[in-house]
Amino acid sequence: MTETTTLADLPLREDLRGEHPYGAPQLHVPVVLNVNENPYPVAPDVVADIAAAVAQAAVGLNRYPDREFLDLRADLATFLRTESGAELAPEQVWAANGSNEVMLHVLQAFGGPGRTALSFAPTYSMYPEYARDTLTTWVTGRREDDFTVDVDHAREQVRRHRPSVVLLTSPNNPTGTALPLATVEAVLEEVSAVGGVVVVDEAYGEFRRAGVPSALELLPRHGNLAVSRTMSKAFSLAGARVGYLAASRAFVDALRIVRLPYHLSAVTQAAARAALKHSAALLSTVDELRTRRDETVVWLREKGFDVAESDANFVLFGRFADRHSVWQGLLDRGVLIRETGPAGWLRVSIGTAEEMQQFRTALQEVVAEK
Ligand SMILES: *Cc1c(COP(=O)(O)O)cnc(C)c1O
Repeated sequence: MTETTTLADLPLREDLRGEHPYGAPQLHVPVVLNVNENPYPVAPDVVADIAAAVAQAAVGLNRYPDREFLDLRADLATFLRTESGAELAPEQVWAANGSNEVMLHVLQAFGGPGRTALSFAPTYSMYPEYARDTLTTWVTGRREDDFTVDVDHAREQVRRHRPSVVLLTSPNNPTGTALPLATVEAVLEEVSAVGGVVVVDEAYGEFRRAGVPSALELLPRHGNLAVSRTMSKAFSLAGARVGYLAASRAFVDALRIVRLPYHLSAVTQAAARAALKHSAALLSTVDELRTRRDETVVWLREKGFDVAESDANFVLFGRFADRHSVWQGLLDRGVLIRETGPAGWLRVSIGTAEEMQQFRTALQEVVAEK
């Protein structure tokens, strides 16, 4: 019986029929530059500390974990103070299994049937899924040709759709574009008028160029603003699944209502806290990756490609009449990048020097063939 059951036999929600599980291909190839991971593995001394902390946590695994994980939230607050000068109480920080789950909490708490979430496309392809899963109406305004967000357009979109949630991604994925704080503030002003909340997704915040501010600065003045971050990218800890956000206490209290009890395992909490003790070491590769990103942008432009300005650890470039064949040609040469973003563009994550050299060689071969 089991083998003959198809999805059509099961009472799947009508709106989920025909949907596929999200995810970039996980292929075993020599050069993996498709999901914006930090290419450098965790250093041995940090691994040792994480392992020891997890071993200690394992002793207590007969008990449920700390549901409020205020120790981890305090460590994250301390980190944000060091990184951006933000003064935050532990109660103003929230964490979950990746910022994907944090964002789902946001949509569960503030979205829902009859409500709307607004963002500006092209942007992160997961957002419409959180909206779908929480039965929230999903709408997008546009980004300009250079992928910036026009302030007047943004204001107009908020007035038109009256969203309860606005997601602003800065630096944006897949374009790399950071938003000026003036744009965030203008959106906040309109959103506050319609009673909504704004989340600035700074998953790539640590990679921003010098002089580019973090929206954390705006938190003290806006109770309906949250800034989300993750340990998946700059921190080299994608496998640990730890994302977090900073906001007002009231905002965080709303998320506490919808989270599953004990959603963050004792193992995750221990690993994250041990890692945060080494935040400087874990982030020590960020400068190098930033430099290599800027070099990649220059090189691609020299080769005649269109390249989006990037404040992240990836670069969007194009434009190709047949981007899929370019993507496939790179893959045939052992280099996996991402076929995403507007038609004609491809995205490459910044890897090690050797990986980027292999990317360059492969790309030149592929375009020479065309
Ligand atoms: C990678 C990414 C995240 C982080 O996801 P995690 O669940 O924390 O791994 C969040 N937002 C954007 C825009 C991303 O690209």
